[in-house]
Amino acid sequence: MGKTVTATHCPYCSLQCGMELVASPAGIQVRGRDFPVNNGGLCKKGWTAADLLRGDRLTTPLVRWQRDGPLRPASFPAAIDAAATRIRATQQKYGRNAVGVFGGGGLTNEKCYLLGKFARVALRTKNIDYNGRFCMSSAAAAAQRAFGVDRGLPFPLADIAETGLVVLVGSNVAETMPPAMQWLARQRAAGGELIVIDPRRTATAEGADLHLQPVPGTDLALAAGLLHLLVADGGVDDDFVAARTTGFGEVRRLAAAWWPERVERVSGVAAGRLREAARRLREAPTAMILTARGAEQHSHGTDTASGWINLALARGLPGRAYSGYGTLTGQGNGQGGREHGQKSDQLPGYRRLADPAHRAHMAAVWGIEPGDLPEPGPSAYELLGALGSDVQTLLVAGSNPVVSAPRAARVEAGLRALNSLIVCDVVLSETAALADVVFPVTQWAEESGTMTNLEGRVLLRRRATAPPPRVRTDLTVLSTLAGRLGVARGFPDDPREVFDELRAASAGGVADYSGITWERIEAEDGVFWPCPAPDHPGTPRMFADDFPTPDGRARFQPVEPAFPAEQPDDAYPLWLTTGRLPGQYQSGAQTRRISRLCGRVPRVEVHPSLAAALALAHGETARIVSRRGSAEFAVSVSDAIRADTVFVPFHWGGTARANSLTDPALDPTSGMPGFKACAVRLEKPEKPEKYEEGTG
Ligand code: SF4
Repeated sequence: MGKTVTATHCPYCSLQCGMELVASPAGIQVRGRDFPVNNGGLCKKGWTAADLLRGDRLTTPLVRWQRDGPLRPASFPAAIDAAATRIRATQQKYGRNAVGVFGGGGLTNEKCYLLGKFARVALRTKNIDYNGRFCMSSAAAAAQRAFGVDRGLPFPLADIAETGLVVLVGSNVAETMPPAMQWLARQRAAGGELIVIDPRRTATAEGADLHLQPVPGTDLALAAGLLHLLVADGGVDDDFVAARTTGFGEVRRLAAAWWPERVERVSGVAAGRLREAARRLREAPTAMILTARGAEQHSHGTDTASGWINLALARGLPGRAYSGYGTLTGQGNGQGGREHGQKSDQLPGYRRLADPAHRAHMAAVWGIEPGDLPEPGPSAYELLGALGSDVQTLLVAGSNPVVSAPRAARVEAGLRALNSLIVCDVVLSETAALADVVFPVTQWAEESGTMTNLEGRVLLRRRATAPPPRVRTDLTVLSTLAGRLGVARGFPDDPREVFDELRAASAGGVADYSGITWERIEAEDGVFWPCPAPDHPGTPRMFADDFPTPDGRARFQPVEPAFPAEQPDDAYPLWLTTGRLPGQYQSGAQTRRISRLCGRVPRVEVHPSLAAALALAHGETARIVSRRGSAEFAVSVSDAIRADTVFVPFHWGGTARANSLTDPALDPTSGMPGFKACAVRLEKPEKPEKYEEGTG
């Protein structure tokens, strides 16, 4: 047997870098591939992605036959029987809504679509949501209310190379999406400027023209202060505001109260540096304002994203060439995953479950009565809070909430209290280890399907190798389970068939995929939605002429600076903020199993002055305590962090679980928890251990 080469995409983040998989009897090798977002470049996660195909992954279904017994290998039919029996028993005893579904932003579009349909049509439960709530839902809500549509970037990533100024708010592109740095490098080489706003002096901030280092959770005050200065110094694009927006008067009135010295008092950013940022924004001929999780993962994250959108609108950026506002989505299918029905309030194509016309459309596609569709259910945090009470059985696909959810210890207790937990995953994650039934599912290289990257570009992952014999796709699990629950029709497991149904379902919706085919994706290096007809070119750039709002205008939002729900005090005197490391991805369930990525220990970044005050040495363990719980990390002494703030990564479970600490206070609009700022104290354990740190 010779070599086969398959063009596909990385399994991890929202860039969805193009790669080739070279399969031979010796194994599978990864090669970079020329694709518009990465031009052949990959980060270390991409280069090592194939390691898990043969590594520490699940190869057989597992069933826990007795409540406290062990998980034992089972055949696929036996596992399906076990799952169906548990679902039926729960619904008979407690009602339809007692079975919940929890999805993920890494699932293909086809899986997201079929998972939503499975919940609404096969289970007829209102209780479905997904881990994207904990990712970019605040920016999505803000974009929706300002522009009438939520697409992470309303322009291709490569446009960054052409803009005069990039303002990055709460994003560390250099370490989380290294191949994207080439666009910033080109932009800088052409004379463009970069402003980074981040409580840490990250690798991205190191190279910026200006780094503003605010107190965590004060980004909205910064945006208000910048708008104040634009108004004061004639930086508002009055023609754009008059012709293409509504609501500026109230926003201008609110900004008047945020003069630079007041912003300095709450954010810690010197008034002079704020003026410097405003001057650069005012003078740049073109500019992009890009937010990410650092600004968005707060209990006021939607308003914060709105504050940055207000600033972009005041400068007249959205719809102008090489300008605009965007959010840098995190998860691999963070964009497509929020479009096709796995959110509690949503139907495919970004339709709304509460809208009678939208319900009628989807009911017709699915061949049911509109009245048979459940009502909108609770968002992810509330759904996980109902485990063991309103929800007695949970189906989890592509998510590891034991590590990634806020108040993770409570979520773990809730999962243990269920009548039954059914998990579809690639590996025995911390969540799968608690399950009663585990379905091992195919990895990215073992299946075909579409993803939608951070640009709104729909792309195709192609199968390059066969999975182990007992491993099925999530689609096959859902299809077989639906049949066993008595819904024999409407659940195909062929991804192309599911995609064609998704196209029809999305027709006429905001995220219209009806003109996109797998053939077009292959021929055109992906197709940007909306694409409402086979002869439509797709929409790489949005808003040039109007916004998809009832009057065609963008809507300023009158938001007032708000601050983290929890503030430091005598008992918890420090800020905690959380984030990602270069060699790990999300809850780490996959990347922690790849030996080439496992060099690093979980560490807390501590400023030298704080380390000295607490007598903490580099490499020793320290305990972090919040009002929710405690966790232990190795100390990494660094002057890149503010002295009043500590930083931990969120890729680990067990005693280094960041989400044992984080604040679950929810954003009232998006349901986003306050992951990025809470009050903690740092303690030196009586017998601190010493870690040697590697390079992973
Ligand atoms: Fe994969 Fe993202 Fe790294 Fe690209 S940047 S190789 S998509 S993890």
